[in-house]
Amino acid sequence: MSRTFLGLPRHGDGGFPAAAHEALADSQLRRNLHKATTTIRAKRSAVVGELPDWEALRDAGAAIKERTLRHLDVHLERLEQAVTERGGTVHWARDAAEAGRIVGDLVARTGSREVVKVKSMATEEIGLNDSLAERGISAYETDLAELIVQLGHDTPSHILVPAIHKNRSEILEIFRREMPSVPADLTDDPRALAMAARQHLREKFLSTRVAVSGANFAVADTGTLAVVESEGNGRMCLTLPDTLISVVGIEKVVPSWEDLEVFLQLLPRSSTGERMNPYTSLWTGVTPGDGPQEFHLVLLDNGRTRVLADTVGRQALNCIRCSACLNVCPVYERTGGHAYGSVYPGPIGAILTPQLIGVENAPTLPYASSLCGACYDVCPVKINIPEVLVHLRGQVVEHKRSARTPSPEGVAMAGLAWVLADPARLERAQRLGRRGAGLLGRDGRIARLPGPLGGWTDSRDVPAMPPESFREWWRRERLGDA
Ligand code: SF4
Repeated sequence: MSRTFLGLPRHGDGGFPAAAHEALADSQLRRNLHKATTTIRAKRSAVVGELPDWEALRDAGAAIKERTLRHLDVHLERLEQAVTERGGTVHWARDAAEAGRIVGDLVARTGSREVVKVKSMATEEIGLNDSLAERGISAYETDLAELIVQLGHDTPSHILVPAIHKNRSEILEIFRREMPSVPADLTDDPRALAMAARQHLREKFLSTRVAVSGANFAVADTGTLAVVESEGNGRMCLTLPDTLISVVGIEKVVPSWEDLEVFLQLLPRSSTGERMNPYTSLWTGVTPGDGPQEFHLVLLDNGRTRVLADTVGRQALNCIRCSACLNVCPVYERTGGHAYGSVYPGPIGAILTPQLIGVENAPTLPYASSLCGACYDVCPVKINIPEVLVHLRGQVVEHKRSARTPSPEGVAMAGLAWVLADPARLERAQRLGRRGAGLLGRDGRIARLPGPLGGWTDSRDVPAMPPESFREWWRRERLGDA
């Protein structure tokens, strides 16, 4: 089985803790994130509060997802049949390499050296821009935030607002540097920045013959795909080019339009805090003389069937990528998305990425959470993120236990088990501990433990050991043992 590639292998040896440490040192980043997440949290909470049946909608969303995943094979085959009957072509991609190859071949066949892209996590996940670049094909992002990230030679740090870590003056600087056509007097006024981007993108829309998109949903009954967005740039991509190639994760299928209706209510309120998203584009196969005349759907597995096999972890596939869990997560708010080292940041990234690539390849991510449960409270499809985190932590421990070279933590735990297994050993250890603690402690607290234990005391004190253990007290008080 090939190892699943998840687009952005940015994790160094230190994993999330080391990357988070680095991010925490960036006070500008923390300010940008705090401002953005606070605003969007308030908006979400206000519009969700307007709906008396919000909880029923969440239940419906979760039930549809669970039911669909139980019969995923059936719904995917129905989707394939419906797309094919309406003039589209369906391709199945086991992993990122295969998906990249399929898309590259399809673009090459058109003779085009350029593609315009609608914001898509799936293409980010398979590293499509890089694999196209290797074949001499340039990909242009058309979502404004994605464009900022691309022009800034950066990587996305939020599901919905990939450039959330940048403020207006940083964006102005990127535009001035990377867009030769921007007016010299361009300011950091949001409207002026948006107009400059629009001017830049208009040329691409009018000259590029191939588009690549993702999809928020794919309706099995009719073979219809849906993209929801706020700017309308996506709609330009989906309608102007001759060829449209959509790369879609297999979990995006929904059985019917009635099911889609539930998600079209849940998604905008949870993601942008809007009652309805400004642009909902729907397309079904090809229509002669209207829109792209060639349509390809690439259905992507890339580890998803493995996730489906895990009865606890599979709920991560319910995700509709609204990003509400990121916006309420106290860990995400402080570290930003890059620290997670994967395309999917925040709480959903902490449970999805380790499952897609194997916990052994992202062992620190299930710990990138305080388990406060705020993510579970806001998730529109009721994914029990804390439950999956704990489940994955168990898998990390199991994996470490089975490793040929024991980890320092494993050695420490084995030593502790040996000490606790014998009362005499425990008392000897307590006496030794008291002596050591006497040297380290002051006023009943130890502010700094030595060596690798120091990580524990970086942000908290340890209570010093009491002068006698319970057993010693018992012997002295009750048994008269002096
Ligand atoms: S896990 Fe839930 S809250 Fe987080 S992005 Fe997915 S659907 Fe939204």
